[in-house]
Amino acid sequence: PSFAELGLDPRLVQAIAKQNFEKPTLVQRKAIPLALQGKDVLCKAKTGSGKTAAYVLPLLSVILKRKTTDPTPFTAGLILVPTRELADQVFKAIEQFSAFCAKDIHAAKLTENVSDAVQRSLLASAPDVVVATPARAWHSVQSSGALSLEKLQCLVLDEADLVLSYGYDEDMENIARALPKGAQTVMMSATLSAELEALRKIFGARGGPEAVVLD
Ligand code: AMP
Repeated sequence: PSFAELGLDPRLVQAIAKQNFEKPTLVQRKAIPLALQGKDVLCKAKTGSGKTAAYVLPLLSVILKRKTTDPTPFTAGLILVPTRELADQVFKAIEQFSAFCAKDIHAAKLTENVSDAVQRSLLASAPDVVVATPARAWHSVQSSGALSLEKLQCLVLDEADLVLSYGYDEDMENIARALPKGAQTVMMSATLSAELEALRKIFGARGGPEAVVLD
């Protein structure tokens, strides 16, 4: 299938064409339709497989669809990454994919090098998507609710197999507890390691993934 046939918003398909992506990669073909359906997905995907687009595109598409009937701004997507470098890359990808719907997609990036005051102002307008390290995300939730997870629809863990080795266990547990009941979880991981099993236990109450995508 082409990107258009995967069911993505046409404005995203336009941005994909502008980036000269000819056709979806394997993980994109498998993961995008499942994520669009709101399924909890565990996706084994290495860097270079097109994993970022595999979760960013369906997340943005769902937000755009909702906004046609409900324009009220709220944080619908939270993308957690282990490092600042990855946060930069993911944020840049969101900007590129939003090229034809920039007014409708507002993203914010929270990392350790950003001051509390700046983070607060970034969050004041209730960005649709937040990209953050787990520590920074939880810090923002706690600082008098600057980041609200109340209406969160989708939590993404990128490089999920690394998140715990960076010492983010407690932050992950806190975030997992703060998620609203129906929230979708999408995990991207280069390996299906023991660490990933530990992470799935943290989200254990949620019953594990409904779909597993292998590369
Ligand atoms: P990632 O696996 O997300 O780190 O992506 C690796 C690289 O592949 C990035 O530079 C993307 O811009 C690029 N890319 C992602 N999807 C596609 C695609 N369908 N066709 C061509 N390039 C792509």
